Amino acid sequence: MIKLIDSHCHIHSFGPNSEDQTVSKWAKLGLGPDEIIRRAKAVGIEEFICVGTDLEDSVAAVSFAQANQGCYAAIGIHPHEAKRYVNNPKAQADFGELLKQPKVVAIGECGLDYYYQHSDPLEQAAILRFQLDLASRNNVPLIFHVREAYSDFWPIFNSYPKGTLRGVLHSFTDTEETLSTAINKGLYIGVNGIATFAKDPAQKEMFKAIPLDRLLLETDAPYLTPAPYRGNINEPKYIVRIAEFLAQLKQVKIDHLEQSATDNTKRLFGI
Ligand SMILES: [Zn+2]
Repeated sequence: MIKLIDSHCHIHSFGPNSEDQTVSKWAKLGLGPDEIIRRAKAVGIEEFICVGTDLEDSVAAVSFAQANQGCYAAIGIHPHEAKRYVNNPKAQADFGELLKQPKVVAIGECGLDYYYQHSDPLEQAAILRFQLDLASRNNVPLIFHVREAYSDFWPIFNSYPKGTLRGVLHSFTDTEETLSTAINKGLYIGVNGIATFAKDPAQKEMFKAIPLDRLLLETDAPYLTPAPYRGNINEPKYIVRIAEFLAQLKQVKIDHLEQSATDNTKRLFGI
C-alpha cells in the first residue's frame, strides 16, 4: 500500500461546536478528529496538511498538528475573511509569529474569491499581498484559493521576482489555459472530489491534462465529498477514491499516480 497524503483538509475543526452543520451533526454522533484519522490511516493515508482559514482557525490547526503524529499545519487568511485583517496590524503581527511554530509547513489558504465576494476585491488583494510578502521573506510554500479571479491573481503573483513564490492552486477547477499558465510558473495543482462529479467535458479534459509531476491529492474535508459518497461528510480516507478516479481518467496505473502525488506533496512542503 502506497503511503498517501491529504494535502488539504480541515480536520482540526471537526467537532460538535463547528459552525458547519454537517460537521457538528457528525461530531455529535462520535465522528471526531481521532476517529477520522484512524479511518484514514486504515486505508493508507499517513499524513495530513491541516489548513487554516483565519487567525483563530490557524492557531487551532497548529495546535492540532503539534498534538497529532502525521499532521502538519498551513496558516492562512482566506479571501472571505480579508476584511477582518486589512486594518489590523496586531493580528498581522500575531500571524507572522505563528509562522515560527513547529509543524507549520505553508501559508494558506490565501488568494482571491470573486465568486462569493464576502470581502471587497481590494481588501482581498491587500491580504493576499501580506501573505505573499511573508512567504517570500521566509521561503515558505503557499496554498492558494483562487475562484473566478485569475485575471487579477496573475498580475499580483507576477509582481514578485520569478522563483520567489512556490505553491499549489488548491481545488483547481479552472480552464486548461489557466492550467498551463500555472504549470509554466512552477505551481502544483490540487485536485479533490470535484473531479469525480464534474460533468463539463472541457473540465474533464483539463483534469486529464494535469501532469503527474504537478498533481497533489486533497479532500478539502469536510467539504466536497467525492462521488459516489455524496451526502456523507467528507473525510481524508476518500483520497483513495480521488486517486482511483484520476488514474482511470488519465489511463495510468494507480500506484504510479499515488506515488507521484505523495512525492510532489513531500517535495513542496518539505515533509
Ligand atoms: Zn479548504
